[in-house]
Amino acid sequence: MDLGIRGKRALVCASSKGLGRGCAEALAEAGVDLVMNARGAEALEAAAAEIRARHGVAVVAVAGDITTEPGRAAVLAYGPFDILVTNAGGPPPGMWSDWSREDFIKAFDGNMLTPISLMQAVLPGMIAKGWGRVVNITSVSVKAPIGVLGLSNTARAGLTGFVAGTSRQVAGQGVTINNLLPGIHATDRAIALDGAVVKARGIPMEEVIAERAATIPAGRYGTASEFGATCAFLCSQHAGFIVGQNVLLDGGATNTTM
Ligand code: NAP
Repeated sequence: MDLGIRGKRALVCASSKGLGRGCAEALAEAGVDLVMNARGAEALEAAAAEIRARHGVAVVAVAGDITTEPGRAAVLAYGPFDILVTNAGGPPPGMWSDWSREDFIKAFDGNMLTPISLMQAVLPGMIAKGWGRVVNITSVSVKAPIGVLGLSNTARAGLTGFVAGTSRQVAGQGVTINNLLPGIHATDRAIALDGAVVKARGIPMEEVIAERAATIPAGRYGTASEFGATCAFLCSQHAGFIVGQNVLLDGGATNTTM
């Protein structure tokens, strides 16, 4: 299917690896020029070079921490953008009783205030053009809380509230904002969380992965490429009537009717 976005320009945050990388790949495959970002310059440059070579689109790699003001200013300098994909690393796991005010503020900065600030920066340009697409990578924890990821549950719920209201304020100007909610995907982040279980329970990694996969009706972890393909569809011409949605990509793991 032609997504109808060839020649558009996208900012894909936190995209040298994992789900962000999957989104960058799928957008590039649809002919979209990219600004990619991550903190580690080496992996970022390597990812940008691979995408350039594979898809023949223009890719600018901007190394920096997207959760900081200078990190955001550095990527935004390469605007204007037709498409924004927000993403950043997730907060660490822990216990509700242990988190301090500083821990919450760090989580809010990374997973709520950073995407909000990026949207505030790019939405006026999209509205002026009468066309724009924003996809925020959030988490299944927005629909069904994950106890040990309370910082994520809290910060992402705040972002979800902002998107629910704002998406309806900009839809009339040709701009859509939606959230993609990953369940378990085979990325470094998932492997790190599995590694913590290996350590805590003293069982092999394969056993941890098999146990977690068994909790998913699809019987496996998701892949970054199928996640990216969904993102690219939400950024496509065909998705102009999809507004303010929270799209679950979890292999059926969240047991809800709606
Ligand atoms: P990942 O495999 O660890 O990849 C994270 C990517 O983001 C890397 O490219 C990393 O590069 C970059 N990054 C991290 N923090 C950054 C920052 N502050 N500024 C700029 N770049 C940054 O993670 P993932 O699995 O793709 O997860 C992406 C998001 O989805 C996270 O918020 C995660 O919590 C959420 N999520 C993931 C899953 C899952 O199963 N994978 C499930 C639910 C939610 P550098 O380290 O070089 O910066």
